[in-house]
Amino acid sequence: MEKKQFQAESKKLLDMVINSIYSKREVFLRELISNASDAIDKLYYRALTDQNMTFNKEDYYIRIIPNKEERTLTILDTGIGMTKEELESNLGTIARSGSFNFKEEHEMKDGYDIIGQFGVGFYAAFMVADRVTVVSKSIDSDKAYKWESTGPDGYTIEPATKETVGTEIILQLKENTEEDNYDEYLEEYRLKQIVKKYSDFIRYPIKMDVTERKLKEGSDNEYEEVKEEQVINSMVPIWKKNKAELTDEDYENFYQEKHFGFDKPLKHIHINVDGAVRYNAILYIPEQAPFNYYTKDYEKGLELYSNGVLIMEKCGDLLPDYFSFVKGMVDSEDLSLNISREMLQHDRRLQRIAKNIKKKIKSQLLSMLRNEREKYEKFFKTFGQQLKYGVYSDFGANKEELQDLLLFYSSKEKKLVTLEEYVKRMPEEQKYIYYATGESVERIDKLPQTELVADKGYEILYFTEEVDEFAIKMLMSYKEKEFRSVSSKDLGFEEEEKEEQEKAEENKELFQAMKDILKDEVKEVRASKRLKSHPVCITADGEISIEMEKVINAMPD
Ligand code: ADP
Ligand code: MG
Repeated sequence: MEKKQFQAESKKLLDMVINSIYSKREVFLRELISNASDAIDKLYYRALTDQNMTFNKEDYYIRIIPNKEERTLTILDTGIGMTKEELESNLGTIARSGSFNFKEEHEMKDGYDIIGQFGVGFYAAFMVADRVTVVSKSIDSDKAYKWESTGPDGYTIEPATKETVGTEIILQLKENTEEDNYDEYLEEYRLKQIVKKYSDFIRYPIKMDVTERKLKEGSDNEYEEVKEEQVINSMVPIWKKNKAELTDEDYENFYQEKHFGFDKPLKHIHINVDGAVRYNAILYIPEQAPFNYYTKDYEKGLELYSNGVLIMEKCGDLLPDYFSFVKGMVDSEDLSLNISREMLQHDRRLQRIAKNIKKKIKSQLLSMLRNEREKYEKFFKTFGQQLKYGVYSDFGANKEELQDLLLFYSSKEKKLVTLEEYVKRMPEEQKYIYYATGESVERIDKLPQTELVADKGYEILYFTEEVDEFAIKMLMSYKEKEFRSVSSKDLGFEEEEKEEQEKAEENKELFQAMKDILKDEVKEVRASKRLKSHPVCITADGEISIEMEKVINAMPD
């Protein structure tokens, strides 16, 4: 039997999984149970869609078997199983190369768990075990195989005997040391506790033999210990539960169990709709952006279930791009199981759900903005850029939808404000919504162009991100007030303009002489009221501001 090496990066990663990724060791059980549940999902889906397969719902379960004598803990499932090749590719490569640096990139805070979406969940087993054995038989093979590993130095695969389709994971628990006790993972009460905490809503029964003290038969004072099989999770999927029965912690646990992210969600949205299209959904607004969020590698989407059966892991059609940060799942009994991905796109029911979800997300964001301002600002600092792209993209088709969700730094308030707040405060004679662009708030504060507008007592919005001005150009106006850059020629100050014109008349010859000397360097020489304490000031001529010009010039051809 040949011993295979893990891939080089896998070794380092495995070391990291074992030593530092998870804040709590007990989550190994959540990871293994989640994998078992995923495997049953896959088989269940196969059985429902394949005419040739028969199935009984009772045949789908997960079993936990602690063995004190051997010091082993076994997690068994009746899921889809793995072929020899799958054992090799799924368990022989830890994460994909490239995602190795996620921890550093993220400056992960303590208390956050990295999870399965990176393909590392399984290896959490090595936090508590020094040998992991996987015996599996795939639905697609009549042979069973055994994968075994004692950690970073590699793994072996050999034929094995197993009658039924499914997977058995046997953990040889580590020896206890002075600081660490691993025996707790053999105790029934402790295992029950961990399952309740992390895996209560798993939709298949998690069974375990539990010791009960019972009255001996025929006796009324003698007790005996009997082993009894119990289902230790409640099994009702969280999304079918009543909101009133659930706590924030339940939603947080589900977020983690589902591997939606390794942060804590900022907000959850639970939707139960019993209308023309019935569906349940649990959506989350994450606190942190995934490390690849603003890259083309990021894939948006929600998990899609048809009456409790997972049919797609990432259904992108359920979310508009500007809400691509939303995580979660949708379950509808009105969707057909057999529907193909291509057909799904055109499915009217799905489109209806998507529209509905979009509305809900927006209204939840608006209510967060109104009632939990601090939280909203935190959200906006992370995902606001995406909303601004949303305003700008699709030729502005979504601008109305999104304009009230935008925030900009205000010269007056010295904090982020909405457009609505700005317009409400505008003095009656103010014609435009003024903005200034620059690298940072400090830089913009020093711009000579802002001085005149600020002196009039008008508020200025500061645009410090490149996308800001593009988004505003797309918006054009808000509540019928046009946007106007402080460096534009026409600031809409009528009084000042009249004066400027008079001055121009008076000094016509002088300006003409100056212009003749400067020739092509300038388009026009005129008197200006613009300067207060700065000696010079450049103004932009046309549609494109100086800042935008810089961006455009910097763009590759
Ligand atoms: P993830 O769950 O994020 O994909 P894991 O490291 O937890 O990553 O598991 C790696 C892969 O191994 C899974 O995607 C799955 O294909 C396979 N796997 C793990 N456990 C089981 C199981 N009990 N039954 C079938 N396949 C499994
Ligand atoms: Mg997993």
